[in-house]
Amino acid sequence: MNIGVKPGRTIIGWLAKGEDLLAALEKLAQDHSITLGEVSAIGAVSQARLGYYNQAERAYYYIDLARPLEILSLIGNISLKDGKPMVHAHVTLGDKDGQAFGGHLAEGTLVFACEFAILEHQSATSLVRQIDGPTGLFLWPAQ
Ligand code: ZN
Repeated sequence: MNIGVKPGRTIIGWLAKGEDLLAALEKLAQDHSITLGEVSAIGAVSQARLGYYNQAERAYYYIDLARPLEILSLIGNISLKDGKPMVHAHVTLGDKDGQAFGGHLAEGTLVFACEFAILEHQSATSLVRQIDGPTGLFLWPAQ
């Protein structure tokens, strides 16, 4: 399934040291009323919390990395859940030896420095996350 979109606003900026990365990106989307879009970022974090969805158990497990890491890549999207903009993002983080860790960005990941871009999309159709029976995840509905 897919929907057609047109480009909307582009917002670029940076986050302050100590902010919660996911919460700060979500607040930006909410403050700018971006209900559909993409987000990307690079930078560094002082600690990270990543989710891994166990498909058989249909439950998230969390990986806590209590050390400074580079944000090698953050990519995600913005859509609606429970009536407000929600950011779904995955990150790849690198350590001092260049080793990478990755997963579903969870709250508890703290910014050391972060430069982001948010691309808004405009569409006649809004994407609203709803629980999906086959996966147990909040996904975009089939239409
Ligand atoms: Zn995810």
